[in-house]
Amino acid sequence: FVNSIEEFFSFCQENDVKYVDLRFTDLKGTWHHVTYRASAINEDNLTNGFPFDGSSIDKWQPINKSDMILKADVPTAFLDPFTADPTIIIFCDVYDIYKGQMYEKCPRSIAKATLKHAESLGIADAAYFGPENEFFVFDDVRVIDNINEAGYKIDTEEGDWNSNTHYPDGYNSGHRGGVKGGYFPVAPIDTQVDLRAEMMDVLEQVGLEVILGHHEVAQGQGEIGIVFSDMIGAADNVQKLKYVVKMVAHLNGKTATFMPKPLFGDNGNGMHVHQSLWKDGKNLFYKEGNYANLSEMALNYVGGIFRHAKALASITNPSTNSYKRLIPGFEAPSILTYSMQNRSASCRIPYGAGEKTTRIEMRFPDSTACPYLAFSALMMAGLDGIKNKTVPVGPMDEDLFELSLDEIREKGIPQMPHTLREATEALIADNEFLRPVFSKTFIDDYQHYMFERQIWPDESRPTAYEFKTTYSC
Ligand code: GLN
Ligand code: MG
Ligand code: MG
Ligand code: MG
Repeated sequence: FVNSIEEFFSFCQENDVKYVDLRFTDLKGTWHHVTYRASAINEDNLTNGFPFDGSSIDKWQPINKSDMILKADVPTAFLDPFTADPTIIIFCDVYDIYKGQMYEKCPRSIAKATLKHAESLGIADAAYFGPENEFFVFDDVRVIDNINEAGYKIDTEEGDWNSNTHYPDGYNSGHRGGVKGGYFPVAPIDTQVDLRAEMMDVLEQVGLEVILGHHEVAQGQGEIGIVFSDMIGAADNVQKLKYVVKMVAHLNGKTATFMPKPLFGDNGNGMHVHQSLWKDGKNLFYKEGNYANLSEMALNYVGGIFRHAKALASITNPSTNSYKRLIPGFEAPSILTYSMQNRSASCRIPYGAGEKTTRIEMRFPDSTACPYLAFSALMMAGLDGIKNKTVPVGPMDEDLFELSLDEIREKGIPQMPHTLREATEALIADNEFLRPVFSKTFIDDYQHYMFERQIWPDESRPTAYEFKTTYSC
């Protein structure tokens, strides 16, 4: 790992680097890349940037203003573990040559601006984020079968995955974990022990500090725990983790997905986000003796997130599929309250945390979010809560999945939106809190993107389930 341009060149020499792969992230969180011959890299382009066509990235530049610049963040350089020839990957920020400043639609630049904003308010000088990106690994050829089995054969009201009624005679599923049976059986029921070990090894190679790996609750679901980082580092780590998990699965003849709800009737994939704000080396979220040792500032931060949650959702849960995960009964909470230990509340305060480790865990986000945008938006909502001393509903320590809709209404507990349309309409109505770092153009193009690429195409397609409910009408 390199700290300066000189170190970069000596690193390339030592490792016989042939290619330099420049990577940047779009609105969806998708990584894009362009590969340079190492011989074409020099101090000048490494400092001043590399040109690319900004009009070919969805909702970025118009064709008549398409020239953009990629600015390499040199200290992020690392060796790509998957290429045949030694290749170095560098995270890049997008620079707007017309305005001579960061590009207003570059997620990584927005995240940097968010940190500066927190500092300029005098609230915090550091923010630590710890995302947990869950995923499924499926057999490459059988993924469609699995979805069909899960989607149309399981009926959790009548029986579970293992029930004979759902399989032809003689189908033996005794060696499988079953619905919600994945937490934590040993091999051979857990079939992904070696695969996760390989993923963890490669993650270490690319610079992530890995704590643990485990099978998750659903069949074929896994998670790898990474040490938290500063906001930009944590978002960079999400990009690396998704790349490594998908590539290792692929090289083993499997396919990995971070899709929020691939299987009906079983747990989905979350991206829980642990967060704390710091100033002068002190954790601002810690106050000994309070409920869960949480400071008033931490509560206000949570209050701000809950207050803007409907709008935030279009950034933290930006797919139509996201809302199929946020339903009661699968540890993916839609009820906006907080609690120690309680995994049915949208915000959990992890148990037994001390001065250095006290933090909040927001449980509603998922991995369809662009990590840079999601972390920025969460933090902007939190900062808004701190400014306005917003108080969240709670704490509530009971199992909230047991509450009826009437009880939720009576207690006045706010809820997450139920669809991407509801979330995106909320974003259109409520984005003032984001505006110090998300420009008006950004919000306009972002919401158009959601409607054009997701909401309308989804709403206009008959689903398989509609055949069941309406075909014989
Ligand atoms: N998979 C659950 C979710 O969707 C979380 C389960 C867990 O981490 N305990 O958020
Ligand atoms: Mg976890
Ligand atoms: Mg988990
Ligand atoms: Mg968690």
